[in-house]
Amino acid sequence: MPDPDPADFDVAVLGGGSAAEALVGALAHLTAVRDLREVRVVVFEANRVGGECPFVACMPSKAMLHDAAAHTGWRDAIERRAGVVDHLDDSRHAEQLTAHGAVLVRAAATITAAGRIEAAGREYTAEHIVLATGSQLLMPPIEGIEELGDRCWTSEEALLTQDRPTRLAIIGGGAIGCELATIFARFGSEVHLLDVAPRAFPDLPQAIGELVDDALRAAGVRVCRGIEIEQVTRRGGGVRTTLANGAGLDTDRIIVAAGRRPRTEGIGVEHIGVADPDHLAVDDTGRVTADGSVWAIGDVAGRGQYTHVANHHANVVADALFGDGTRRFDDVVTPACVFTDPPLMTIGPRPAELSDDDVIWVSANLSETPRWTTDALTDGVVTVAVDRRSRTVVAAHGVGASFDVLASALVTAIDSRVPVDQLARSMWPFPSIGEILGVVYSRAVESLGEP
Ligand SMILES: Cc1cc2nc3c(=O)[nH]c(=O)nc-3n(C[C@H](O)[C@H](O)[C@H](O)COP(=O)(O)OP(=O)(O)OC[C@H]3O[C@@H](n4cnc5c(N)ncnc54)[C@H](O)[C@@H]3O)c2cc1C
Repeated sequence: MPDPDPADFDVAVLGGGSAAEALVGALAHLTAVRDLREVRVVVFEANRVGGECPFVACMPSKAMLHDAAAHTGWRDAIERRAGVVDHLDDSRHAEQLTAHGAVLVRAAATITAAGRIEAAGREYTAEHIVLATGSQLLMPPIEGIEELGDRCWTSEEALLTQDRPTRLAIIGGGAIGCELATIFARFGSEVHLLDVAPRAFPDLPQAIGELVDDALRAAGVRVCRGIEIEQVTRRGGGVRTTLANGAGLDTDRIIVAAGRRPRTEGIGVEHIGVADPDHLAVDDTGRVTADGSVWAIGDVAGRGQYTHVANHHANVVADALFGDGTRRFDDVVTPACVFTDPPLMTIGPRPAELSDDDVIWVSANLSETPRWTTDALTDGVVTVAVDRRSRTVVAAHGVGASFDVLASALVTAIDSRVPVDQLARSMWPFPSIGEILGVVYSRAVESLGEP
């Protein structure tokens, strides 16, 4: 197909990942339901339309976690993975964008001035520019890491590989590190998870982090917390990792999973008055403090690196541009799951972000439900924060069997602001994991006392 003629667009979107896809869909929907004139949208994508999630992130990692738990062999699992990621063919995503009326330009785009973008040597103009460029790996400043070449993998390489390393060190024990460690350990690799933090997810209640580490160990991962890495060097066909205490670890590969940062480099934000491209100032409607009308959605906005967050941002910005402008990034609670076995869920503020003057924290253990006995489940715990004045749940964190499913019930309870007194009166199917909510809500009512 020939390149579209440069033209004046209403909205230009830099990046064609999950955030951009959701934005294009939301704009098409809004203009249809509000009977607006057609909005001219151009999306620039330098790599695969659909971005990371369907091809090298969420989807392949969940497929591999599933197959590892199901004891599928490695070869069968990577064959199935290839189907799950559409053999890296993004045409389905590209067709969806154009079906919603967007013009797709397959090229890296750079902002040259307010309302002006350059891509593949051509200039485009747009009334609104939306940054949806995602995030990129944060390479930790470890001596020798740049010299490792293909012995050092990103999560993308780990999720595209055909070959399973026999011995693996994973640097970084956050969400991505924990999931990759579970995958490779379950398929039979010797996996060492190296992290500076004293336990998993140190910003969550201690019992939760400890249970996540137990889950990793049960999957066969060698969990090494509270360590510092001094140096990595090539050794034989693999890598030697030297710790600050002098200990050495030899593996075939290392995977770096030490965090990601908004991808703001090389997109020209300095041409629109952004003083520090590393820290985009983005308000709750998604607007960037910059010259012209500039917005940021998804990972690049720096408000959480999840596909559902990207989708939510897209809806908020679509509403700001062509809706009634009432939606906000933080008008609903932010949930997230880490798909260890059992899974972790975290919804809303962490304990350090809430004052004991405002909330009470109460917990319940999975062992308090009959389902724990019938299914011989491993331990699990849910901890919720309840606002003392409104008596509504404002945050919930936990780890336990099927807690990725349980998360939805808690999201609904939080977003609909139902008083915990009402929630405690609900019936819960017996014997279901959900009964743990009855326990924790009743405990919250007891702790709060009479309204
Ligand atoms: C291993 C892994 C597992 C994950 N698992 C989950 C999960 O289970 N659940 C979940 O919710 N989230 C998960 N995530 C996070 C999720 O993948 C991201 O939050 C999501 O992809 C963000 O979407 P986005 O559109 O902001 O960015 P992306 O999907 O990264 O899309 C950005 C796009 O912009 C393009 N681009 C960048 N610069 C330019 C430019 N100058 N011009 C043109 N195009 C450009 C890129 O090529 C890319 O395609 C995971 C991430 C990783 C790494």
